[in-house]
Amino acid sequence: MDVYGLIGNPVGHSLSPPMHEAAYEYLGVDARYVTFEPPADAAVRAVESAATLGVAGLNVTIPFKEDALGAVEPDALAAQVGAVNTIDFGSDPPTGHNTDATGLVRAFEHHRVVLDGRAVVVGAGGAGRAAAFALAGEGMCVDIANRTPGRAERLADAVTAADVSGTAAGHPLDALDELLDSATVLVNATSVGMEEDRSPVPRTALHADLAVLDAVYRPVETRLLRDADRAGATTIDGAWMLLYQGVEAFERWTDCDAPVDVMNDALREHLR
Ligand code: NAP
Repeated sequence: MDVYGLIGNPVGHSLSPPMHEAAYEYLGVDARYVTFEPPADAAVRAVESAATLGVAGLNVTIPFKEDALGAVEPDALAAQVGAVNTIDFGSDPPTGHNTDATGLVRAFEHHRVVLDGRAVVVGAGGAGRAAAFALAGEGMCVDIANRTPGRAERLADAVTAADVSGTAAGHPLDALDELLDSATVLVNATSVGMEEDRSPVPRTALHADLAVLDAVYRPVETRLLRDADRAGATTIDGAWMLLYQGVEAFERWTDCDAPVDVMNDALREHLR
């Protein structure tokens, strides 16, 4: 039996175990997916211990995504983002990947959104970094708007300095109206909308030519997505990004096509 898992702190409400175990059961893969909650300063030790114990693959969540980089050989995208959320122990040293970034792209592709032209990413934390590098990697011109504008500017500088085909620029949040005018893609990568029914984007800035992905998945239906729907935009909830980061991890670990619908059903069942 293969053991896969998640390290994070806390991991109690993680949706990854039901999503992955539904896939194992459907495909008859002899595997289990378990959660581990090491102390916050123990990322590298936890990854090394997992390797010693023969764990086949690990997902990594807050607060370990950046520190775990030091225990793996990151691929180019994970190195650019500066964080790993998927580790494959199939080689020595284990390889690290950022399937938040690739999962975001696949969530757009699932909704037949063409990733060219201008994108706006709101937020410059972990999800914002993944979104900015992913979209610039697709060749988009990415405008990053953040409450702390200096953080958006530093992220844009890092994207610009990286080997990506797109470009990036940083802005304060009050530039959103103007930035969204010419954009076809909008990602909310802030936590706004999680705790209260608020949107980080003015309703009047939304329009029908936008595809709007909200990384927030609790709740699934956010104020931003309701506003975007009313404006005639294509809406993509955060569960799609969560689903496809899991799909990407599953496929990397097992070399099988993931049963996407089965994993989606399991995820949405547990989000209800
Ligand atoms: P993070 O690193 O803590 O970054 C938080 C971001 O939100 C920062 O840009 C921060 O701005 C901004 N922010 C926080 N409160 C704000 C407010 N009141 N007004 C405006 N901006 C505010 O968090 P993260 O890991 O990037 O996560 C962000 C969200 O993405 C969370 O809801 C998380 O659950 C979600 N997420 C979803 C997925 C998925 O698969 N769907 C994956 C990863 C994350 P400052 O820089 O100014 O502080």
